[in-house]
Amino acid sequence: MARVTVVGGGVVGLTTALELAEAGHRVTVVRDQPVEDTVSRVAGGLWFPYHVEPRARAVAWGLVALRRFTALAHSPDGPAAGVRMAHGVMVHRTEPDLWWTEGLGAVLPAPREVLPTDALGGYAVRVPLVDTGAFLPWLENRCATTGVRLVRRTIDSLDDIGDDLEGDVVVIAAGLRSATLLPDPEVRPGRGQVVRLANPGLTEWVVDPENPAGLAYVLPHGEVVVCGGTDVEGEWSTEPDPEVERAILARCRDLVPALRDAPVVGRAVGLRPLAPSVRLARHTVDGRDIVTNYGHGGAGVTLSWGCAEEVVRLLA
Ligand SMILES: Cc1cc2nc3c(=O)[nH]c(=O)nc-3n(C[C@H](O)[C@H](O)[C@H](O)COP(=O)(O)OP(=O)(O)OC[C@H]3O[C@@H](n4cnc5c(N)ncnc54)[C@H](O)[C@@H]3O)c2cc1C
Repeated sequence: MARVTVVGGGVVGLTTALELAEAGHRVTVVRDQPVEDTVSRVAGGLWFPYHVEPRARAVAWGLVALRRFTALAHSPDGPAAGVRMAHGVMVHRTEPDLWWTEGLGAVLPAPREVLPTDALGGYAVRVPLVDTGAFLPWLENRCATTGVRLVRRTIDSLDDIGDDLEGDVVVIAAGLRSATLLPDPEVRPGRGQVVRLANPGLTEWVVDPENPAGLAYVLPHGEVVVCGGTDVEGEWSTEPDPEVERAILARCRDLVPALRDAPVVGRAVGLRPLAPSVRLARHTVDGRDIVTNYGHGGAGVTLSWGCAEEVVRLLA
């Protein structure tokens, strides 16, 4: 069994740390943000492999996470973990490419009356929907009770991982900022802005990725509905833009008229860690044993458990 330091305490770092600890490794997580401030917290939490490569591996990792989230949703821990199975509709405006539905089970045409009038069609699926506001603290707590040491610190370079941190293997799971630790110049941000509305009673989700006015999605999580969104490559600003917010609200209220009078209760911006392919591999860097697990783009929640299980296999 190894002594492992995981750099990163978002959804990727925490699921990896928990899997490693459950496999018997001695694990320390180092991160410099509270979970509430991570990109993972901004995520809408839909199980959907959006803006991530390569597809074949994303499908395989996603299916592992699908199985794990489904089991969690059906367990007594489901509500506390913020995980439920939710029906929803994926709208399409061109011939749909259903590559990501492999292994999902029933994928049925959505009834015409729930679709925008100008849409070509849509399909109805039931997938995990994860409220990251509940899931991340639950995960962090599970890590702590499984023996993972949680340390708050910024790692400026791999040399910062000294004797006080577990040192046989370092897992780099620091999202977008992994790129400065290694370095990895191909990694770039995909800026995403969301608006949170008071939930008027919705339980089902809708995603309209090809909306001519821009990406639109409505994801209900209990009292709150997460409305999005945007995905602007290369943009680094994390300040919510009021103009962008107005446009998101217009698209989402058009898509789901029940949201017309729902008040805004919050807003957030996150930078998706985009990469030409998910960086999941074991390397030797400056004589150190390193496993990378970053670059999950718009699918960090969706692939989380699948990638975490693969990290455990890489260390076996
Ligand atoms: C608007 C939006 C909507 C999204 N919706 C979904 C969705 O519905 N479904 C889905 O699957 N995905 C979604 N995503 C994508 C998902 O949020 C990301 O893929 C995921 O959060 C990446 O997780 P991560 O753990 O790699 O990174 P992060 O959440 O960014 O966590 C990085 C961690 O590393 C730590 N860290 C970084 N650098 C250092 C350092 N040098 N020293 C110490 N600590 C460091 C930070 O403190 C933090 O703990 C969405 C993203 C956005 C922006």
